[in-house]
Amino acid sequence: MAPGPVILSPIPAFLYLCRPNEYEMFDLKESKIQDEDRQGEAYAPFASDPSVYRKKFYIESYGCQMNFADSEIVASILNKEGFGATRNLEDADLIFVNTCSIREKAEQTVRKRLTEFRKLKKKRPGTLVGVLGCMAERLKSKFLEEERLVDIVVGPDAYRTLPTLVTEAEGGQRAVNVLLSREETYADISPVRLNSNGISAFVSIMRGCNNMCSFCVVPFTRGRERSRDAGSIVNECRDLFESGYKEVTLLGQNVDSYYFQPDTLPGRHLEVVNGEDRQDQEILISGGESGRKEEFEDRPITFAMLLAMVAEISPLLRIRFSTSHPKDITDDVLHTMARFNNICKYIHLPVQSGSSRILQLMNRTYTREWYMAKVQRIRELIPDCGISSDIITGFCTENEEDHKDTLNIMEYSRYDFSYMFFYSERPGTLAHRRYKDDVPEEIKKKRLQDVIELQGKLSYQSNKNDIGKIFEVLIEGESKKDNNKWMGRTSQNKVIVFPRDNSNYTKGDYVTVKVKDCTQATLLGELVSK
Ligand code: SAM
Ligand code: SF4
Repeated sequence: MAPGPVILSPIPAFLYLCRPNEYEMFDLKESKIQDEDRQGEAYAPFASDPSVYRKKFYIESYGCQMNFADSEIVASILNKEGFGATRNLEDADLIFVNTCSIREKAEQTVRKRLTEFRKLKKKRPGTLVGVLGCMAERLKSKFLEEERLVDIVVGPDAYRTLPTLVTEAEGGQRAVNVLLSREETYADISPVRLNSNGISAFVSIMRGCNNMCSFCVVPFTRGRERSRDAGSIVNECRDLFESGYKEVTLLGQNVDSYYFQPDTLPGRHLEVVNGEDRQDQEILISGGESGRKEEFEDRPITFAMLLAMVAEISPLLRIRFSTSHPKDITDDVLHTMARFNNICKYIHLPVQSGSSRILQLMNRTYTREWYMAKVQRIRELIPDCGISSDIITGFCTENEEDHKDTLNIMEYSRYDFSYMFFYSERPGTLAHRRYKDDVPEEIKKKRLQDVIELQGKLSYQSNKNDIGKIFEVLIEGESKKDNNKWMGRTSQNKVIVFPRDNSNYTKGDYVTVKVKDCTQATLLGELVSK
């Protein structure tokens, strides 16, 4: 069955880990696409590098932001081993596809692409094709043995072995490594920034997922949850800031369960400042010489603490994060968000369904009432916080009452935007093993349409409420539609477009903008400070 990854704008579906796009379309047909701007994106990060490489690789990425971030790690690993990237398929000795398994449609897209590459291989027999990521993990050597579609199969925890696997494949051997790890976080690898705007970067803080949402394939393709060394995260964010980036998004399937137990942070230690009680402590990584060495050196680092550490790098560095599982986002995190101006006031809080009965079948571990109380708490502690969601329609046994509960919780939560999907059964998941996928496809789609329409109204209302308000905006670049205008984002992750007005501002500057008008997807403003 063809699944429907639908996003009501303003966000592209592939970026369910992140941010809205300018002027996204709203009708079902248009929103069904994963962001065509990025899906299948190919990179050439070393295009201007004069080095002579022994081989050239081409890499395309599909799926969520974690996959795009992983492609940056893969590029870094390959580059160190003497491989250069090319955006031109015809030039490539190695072709890699970083894949997604979350819905059946995502896998179909990749299969089609691999078939095209197989044809290309016939014309150029020396070319090697490799499949990376979640589909590689899910289907393992099926690609090599049954389908003979590719030469190399590498799961998300085995990218360090890629250079060896390439050598094996060149020698005509089977090159598969789909071992999942309990430790691998690629903490020491500096990702090559691919196709970045030079202002916003994604920083992976953890890998895998320990939740067993019954619809979801991620725990099977990405393995157990593990948190990356806090010191390496802070260093990466600081390096990004020092090289001109103004915004980092901390990435993980469930960032709020981040938990790092430091053994030692080499050459560095934790310092506590202003620490009267635990709630008010600001924790940062200090260079060592001047810092007070504390007994806190061995203290585990939670997500709230990590947020504070990154926020301390500079008030000019904006911090975002995604995704928050509602069960794990704590008051500590909310207090930390409220305390730092540079931690953006925006939370992606996927509800999936508004029916407690369906939530239980989904194994989400919260009820409708519990989720509503969490939304209430966010609004209480951070009154100006933007909230977005993921919603699945037509999960096993869902009836009209359940569907009404979903519409109702959307209204209650007043989501600024949502990523909306109809249920796509995934082999091996708990739902596949336990329940019947019994909601007919046309009903799944009809309910999805209801959800999209309601979200359209909520997004428009939320934007209309901002008319007349003044926001600090980080300029990300020119508006796609009009190069006399800038495009930026508010702390709440809303896209705002405004005339340049002969000002000397540039990409990466913070400006103050007053909202004059809006569409469903975009705020339209004018500069207040010139
Ligand atoms: N870890 C994140 C969380 O729990 O919120 C979400 C990660 S998942 C990669 C992104 C979204 O895809 C989910 O929130 C869910 O709405 C959707 N999704 C996952 N499995 C799905 C399935 N089998 N059918 C339809 N949508 C699905
Ligand atoms: Fe999948 Fe649930 Fe983990 Fe998100 S929290 S990745 S939906 S299992």
